[in-house]
Amino acid sequence: MNKEIEKKQNEGASAPTQHFIRQIIADDYKTNKWGGRVQTRFPPEPNGYLHIGHAKSICLNFGLAIENNGLTNLRFDDTNPEKESDEYVRSIIEDVKWLGFDWGDRLYYASDYFEQLYDFAVQLIKMGKAFVCDLSPQEIKDYRGTLTESGKESPYRYRPVEENLELFEQMRQGKFPEESHVLRAKIDMASPNLNMRDPVIYRIKYAQHHRTGDKWCIYPMYDYTHCLSDSIERITHSICTLEFEDHRPLYDWVLEELDVFHSQQIEFARLNLTYTVMSKRKLLELVESKVVNGWNDPRMPTISGLRRRGFTPAAIRNFSELVGVSKKESVVDYALLEYCIREDLNKTAQRAMAVLNPLKIVITNYPDDLEEELDAINNPENLEAGSRKIPFSKEIYIEKDDFMENPPKRFYRLAPGREVRLRYAYFITCNEVIKDENGEIIELRCTYDPASRGGASPDGRRVMGTIHWVSARHSKKVELRLYDHLFLKEDPYDFPEGGDVLDNLNPNSLVKIAAFVEPSLMKAKPTERFQFERVGYFCADEYDSNEGQPVFNRTATLRDSWAKIAGKS
Ligand code: ATP
Ligand code: MG
Repeated sequence: MNKEIEKKQNEGASAPTQHFIRQIIADDYKTNKWGGRVQTRFPPEPNGYLHIGHAKSICLNFGLAIENNGLTNLRFDDTNPEKESDEYVRSIIEDVKWLGFDWGDRLYYASDYFEQLYDFAVQLIKMGKAFVCDLSPQEIKDYRGTLTESGKESPYRYRPVEENLELFEQMRQGKFPEESHVLRAKIDMASPNLNMRDPVIYRIKYAQHHRTGDKWCIYPMYDYTHCLSDSIERITHSICTLEFEDHRPLYDWVLEELDVFHSQQIEFARLNLTYTVMSKRKLLELVESKVVNGWNDPRMPTISGLRRRGFTPAAIRNFSELVGVSKKESVVDYALLEYCIREDLNKTAQRAMAVLNPLKIVITNYPDDLEEELDAINNPENLEAGSRKIPFSKEIYIEKDDFMENPPKRFYRLAPGREVRLRYAYFITCNEVIKDENGEIIELRCTYDPASRGGASPDGRRVMGTIHWVSARHSKKVELRLYDHLFLKEDPYDFPEGGDVLDNLNPNSLVKIAAFVEPSLMKAKPTERFQFERVGYFCADEYDSNEGQPVFNRTATLRDSWAKIAGKS
C-alpha cells in the first residue's frame, strides 16, 4: 500500500492514476453502453455529518463525472425518518460545496419519489412479484434461514393479488400498527443470497419525516429505494461501497422486473483510517456523550471537523486521489492525510512566529528603548506573498527547548558561549544563565552583533542554528489548541472483551496552552491558516476567534511521519 501511494506521489497527484472504475467507464465509452453519457450521484443519508470516508466517495463520484464531461447528482437517501434531520441536510450541502463540487440544479431527495415508489410497488404486486406479509419481525427473521440453510416461505406468500393490493393500500392509510404488516418482494426463499429471500421492501412507521411530515406512514426500504432512485435519475454508474456487493442481485432484480432504466452498481472498498472511527453511529455516540464538542470538533474525522482543524479542500481532494480506488479493504495511515495538508499549507500558508513555551532573553548590549521593525518573508515557497514587519527589542522570548545548558553533541541551538541566528533578526551569543532559587533557568543574558541585522552573516562566519523568537514587549498572548489523535490505538476497535472504543480514547487529544505570538497574528481572520515557524500549522478558529483576539487550532505538526513511513526521507 505504502509503495503504491509513494509511486502515485512521485507521479504527481494531478495526473489521475488508472483504477478499475475509470477502466469501466472507458470501456463503456467504447461499447457506447450509455450513449456517451456519464452520470453519477452522491447519496448520503442525512443521519449525521459527513466524514473523510464520504469525502472519498464525493471526490470519486464528482471527479469521475468531471473527467468525463458528465454530471453528478446530490441525492439525500432519506428513508429512515427517525434518524434524519434538516440540520444534517444543511451540513451535508455545505460540506460538499466546500470540497469544491457542484451538482447544478440536481439536488434530489429519495422522499421526492415516494409516490412513484409506491406506484412501482403496486405494479410489483399486480405482477405477482410482491406480497403483504403479516409475520412479525422476529418470525420473518426465523423464517429467513441461514447461510447454510434455506429459508421457509411465509404463509402469506401466495395471497391473491387483489388482497395484497387492498392490504397495501390500508397500510398506507394507517389502518395497521407498526410491525404488523410489511410488503415483501417475492423472489426466492432458497436463494444462497439472503438478500434475495423475499426481502422486505416497505414497512409501517408512524414518524415525522423531515420533509414529508406525516404524509406517509409506510416507508420504502433502502435496497428498494436506492436502485429506483438511480433509475429515475438515469444514473449510469451507481458507485457504492463493498458491503453492497451482496445487495446487487436485488438491485438488478427490482430494475429488471419493473423494466425501467437500469443503472449499473459498482462497488469499491471503503476508506478506513488509523486512529479513527468512521461509522456515523459511533461518531454520533462521541457527540452525544460529549467526548468531543460537537460534530465539528477539530478531532472528529468529519469534513466540518477537518475544516475547523485547518484542512483545505485541496488537501482532502488530493488525499482522496492518493488513497486510490480498489476492491480490497485496507486501512490508510492517518499520516498520509497529514502529509497532504502539509504539502498544501507549505505552499499556501503565511509564516509567523509564535513561542509556545517561553524563555526570556535580555540582550545586554541592545539599547533599552530602541525598537526596530525587521522584514520577515511571508512565505519562502511563494515570494509573491510578500513580507511583513516584525518588532524587535531588548527583551525577547525563545522556546525553552531551544536552549540547553549542557548540550549533547547533536544539539545545534543555543547554549552557553554559543552563537545562533534569530530568524530575520540578529546573531546572538549566550553569556549568562540566570536561575531561580530552585535552580530553574528563568532568563538568559545574551549579546547581539549589530552587523548581522536581518540575520545575515556579517563576515561569512557560521552559526550553529536558527531559532524563532518574539519581542517580549510587543508579543501578544493567545490561546493555542494542540490537537492530537482522538484514539491512542491505531485500531480503536482493538479492546478486550466487554470493552468499548471509548476505552481507547487519548486523554491528551486536546491540550490548550497560552502562547506568545508576533503582533501581526492578532489580525488573523477566522479560518486563516499559518505556519508558525518550526512549530506547526495552525488555523484561526472559525467560531471562538474574536476580532483582534484569535484562537488557533493546530492543524498538524511539522514532523512528516509519512515521509518516514513511505521511506522517502
Ligand atoms: P457510515 O457507515 O459511516 O455510517 P454510510 O454508508 O451509512 O456511512 P451514507 O450516508 O449511506 O453513509 O453514505 C453515503 C455514501 O458515502 C455512500 O455511497 C457510501 O457508500 C459512501 N461512504 C460511506 N462511508 C464511506 C467510506 N468510509 N469510504 C468510502 N465511501 C463511503
Ligand atoms: Mg448507508
